[in-house]
Amino acid sequence: MNIAIIAHDGKKAEMIQFLMDYKAILIQKEIHLVATGTTGEKAEKAGFNVQKVLSGPMGGDAQIAAKVAQGEIDLVIFFRDPLEKHPHEPDIFMLMRLCDVHNIPLATNPATAELLIRAV
Ligand code: PGA
Repeated sequence: MNIAIIAHDGKKAEMIQFLMDYKAILIQKEIHLVATGTTGEKAEKAGFNVQKVLSGPMGGDAQIAAKVAQGEIDLVIFFRDPLEKHPHEPDIFMLMRLCDVHNIPLATNPATAELLIRAV
């Protein structure tokens, strides 16, 4: 199973905490993580194996969106920061749109992500 993880700067600590909390499930289910650049770096520092794409503002969200369109991602966990502006907002909307187009589960906050990861 391939899970994409993305976290805006204000949400990166919560993403790492989420990964730590569900590490047992990630290992047991042999989940392959794909991440935008900086999120992936932080996850690696926390001890996770991650396939990294570009950083979000450089096109990383668009790369994840393309993987969704190609059927390479089973679940997207995207901790968005709704209180910040983002220069790559069009890419963010593209990713969310393509999740809907291809019926890929998308969690945009920790509460939803917890429900989804427990269902994996
Ligand atoms: P980052 O990208 O993980 O490289 O910070 C996330 C984003 O801003 O979409």
